[in-house]
Amino acid sequence: MPNGQHEVHLNLNVRGLPVSATLGINEQSNKLLAEGKQVFKLGLGQSPFPVPAPVVRELQTNAHQKDYLPVKGLPALCDAVAGYYRRTQGLSLRGEDILIGPGSKELMFILQLVYYGDLVIPTPSWVSYAPQAHIIGRHVRWLQTQEENNWLLTSSELEKLCAKDPTKPRIVILNYPNNPTGCSYSAEQLQELAETARKYKIILLSDEIYGELNYQGNHQSIARYYPEGTIIASGLSKWAGAGGWRLGTFAFPAELDWLLDAMAVVASETFTSTSAPIQYAAVSAFKGGDELEYYLMQSRRILRSMSGWIWQSLSDAGVKVARPDGAFYMLPDFEPLRPQLEARGIMNSEQLCQRLLDETGVAMLPGSCFGRPEQELTVRLAFVDFDGARSLAAAEQIPADQELNDDFLRQYCEKVLTAIDRVCAWLQG
Ligand code: PMP
Repeated sequence: MPNGQHEVHLNLNVRGLPVSATLGINEQSNKLLAEGKQVFKLGLGQSPFPVPAPVVRELQTNAHQKDYLPVKGLPALCDAVAGYYRRTQGLSLRGEDILIGPGSKELMFILQLVYYGDLVIPTPSWVSYAPQAHIIGRHVRWLQTQEENNWLLTSSELEKLCAKDPTKPRIVILNYPNNPTGCSYSAEQLQELAETARKYKIILLSDEIYGELNYQGNHQSIARYYPEGTIIASGLSKWAGAGGWRLGTFAFPAELDWLLDAMAVVASETFTSTSAPIQYAAVSAFKGGDELEYYLMQSRRILRSMSGWIWQSLSDAGVKVARPDGAFYMLPDFEPLRPQLEARGIMNSEQLCQRLLDETGVAMLPGSCFGRPEQELTVRLAFVDFDGARSLAAAEQIPADQELNDDFLRQYCEKVLTAIDRVCAWLQG
């Protein structure tokens, strides 16, 4: 008994749950760093870029904002978010269709809490969806995707699931550009998925938090094709580099206002409202403008060049890896090298990650954290261990129509390249 007094009576849904895997690898990497070891932190997926200057200025200006704000969000921010979706996706959203929360993760949790139905998660997928369902006691239905399809969900896979029990209430999570693969859907693929979703009246939770980090800057929301059943999740964490600010957004179609209202009730009894200065500052991020567009253009350019370089290096080393369309992730599959790895005593992705961390100092996450089978040799890498502010400043000096070459990457994103070099050399060893 801890303290010799209290017995541990944890909620059985929480008992035995580990701390979120991405945060765990970060702690393990920090421990090794504190011991003086060199660690390449390709585990935690945090944006390397600074918060855009106009948004920081707004936060400074609004530091004095001290009042609780409306539960659903600061009206000016809700209007700005709705305006953003009208402008970028042509959706007819209004301010009252928006819910602001302290991170989209929190909003996802509350959505699952208020909705009664299955949660359908394509694998691979982000680490937190399933544990959230587990905590609440919801049933998770994993949907297998195929590596040949870049791990994207196909409409026929969705159809097959729904046809088994056509009227079952379901939330299906789509996430693109995807964490952990970086891959995104084409307009045709989105249209096909939308058709199936409409046929079975599915609620789509479209997690588009990496949308603005699509390398071509042409992200499309599935809400264009299935507006009546899509909730779009986003926020400041990824494209505005402000994960620690904790601001997430949900955009609802008018048809789902009952869900928004129920979520607001739970919000009112839990987090009350999102931090006031952060909400005031976020208005400028969603309003956009030239300075923000420029920042995004440079961010995409750097990430695009890095992903191309890493993809080529790993492919040349014999690793199978889908080429990302956005964000800062990849899910290399070491399966083609299984005989060599097994000869070194490595049978699964967890052993692979542990050995890579011990023997090369490169921290990555096993595919099993993302819903992949234990024995698979998939690994998620987040190519974020570089100085985002320095690389942005350097990219600005190079004409926008030029690709950032290997010399640029060696100079400004050196740690990530060294990490990949080490992994490739280790594979030869
Ligand atoms: N969705 C995905 C796919 C993510 O990778 C993350 C952050 N790692 C989130 C949602 C949550 O982001 P936040 O809570 O900071 O909005």
